[in-house]
Amino acid sequence: MRVLIALGGNAMTGPGGDATPQAQREAITLAMRHVATVVASGHEVVLTHGNGPQVGNLLVKNELAAQVVPPVPLDWCGAQTQGTIGFTMLDALEQALAAVGAPRPVAALVSRTLVAADDPAFANATKPIGRFLPQDQARSMIEHGETWEDRGEKGWRRVVASPEPLEVLETGTLLTLVDAGYVVVAAGGGGIPVVRAADGSVHGVEAVIDKDLTAAVLARAIGADALVIATDVENAVLGYGTPDARPVGRVSVAEMEAYAAAGHFTSGSMGPKVEAALRFVRDGGRRSVITALDRIADALGGEVGTIIENPSASTEPATERLLP
Ligand code: ADP
Ligand code: MG
Repeated sequence: MRVLIALGGNAMTGPGGDATPQAQREAITLAMRHVATVVASGHEVVLTHGNGPQVGNLLVKNELAAQVVPPVPLDWCGAQTQGTIGFTMLDALEQALAAVGAPRPVAALVSRTLVAADDPAFANATKPIGRFLPQDQARSMIEHGETWEDRGEKGWRRVVASPEPLEVLETGTLLTLVDAGYVVVAAGGGGIPVVRAADGSVHGVEAVIDKDLTAAVLARAIGADALVIATDVENAVLGYGTPDARPVGRVSVAEMEAYAAAGHFTSGSMGPKVEAALRFVRDGGRRSVITALDRIADALGGEVGTIIENPSASTEPATERLLP
């Protein structure tokens, strides 16, 4: 099977969100051991990952050093975190693959994700990023053209557009590498958001893309048999955090849509994972699984995690136009 695995923030930082380089390396090393188990069991694996905490840290550096070095835009922050996370994953993945006797060549792609210039998200920034600041500091960032919102007691927070991912522009390159036997890391942080100008050129924009939604797009574009969303809980849960909490196991698209519509999945955390899992299967993919990182190998074989399946699905890529 060809499998796209989307790794959440918990796979990239230490306990409690510890983002020291040491903690990040340790978390990624652990994650790559789980990924290597999947590869060793015979699956073709493509990886993607989140970058929220890492971009948050870069933004703090931007703010604190603004008088000394020019702040860089959000698309640059995305590219930088794809670089550092990708590099760290490659080292750890190579070692983990060798340790399970399944050596493979590995690669990480700096990846751009196309969004529509007229996506309504650009007129209505909703995605909070970075740290909270007191009002006077937020004011000065607003004067630099950013959008900040009063979030009450915690202070002010920057909000940015989170447009819909349309297409990962590196899909063709990715398929070339997969066909050559590589385990590839791509579209980290949902991909660097870019828009296409009338003359066909693309350029980065100040936005963030949900990594789970991009994972669904990418999984279809590469003809993946399964989309695996690896996070820190074993299942999506109904009535999460209430005494009536009930994990969702195997579920139909219609049932999961109804649970989502009833508000069971928090926006910004479980919500986009459920939406991505639904989109992949609705769009013709065979199987989506949401589960904990340490269950990903088991999840591909059996009844682990939250599984949305479409037994009649084809695994042909959703589109041929991306192929080189
Ligand atoms: P990641 O960083 O892995 O992408 P998130 O932290 O964004 O993951 O989302 C996973 C978190 O979503 C869980 O740790 C849990 O606290 C939260 N969550 C919110 N609603 C639910 C739900 N209905 N079922 C399970 N987890 C939920
Ligand atoms: Mg998280």
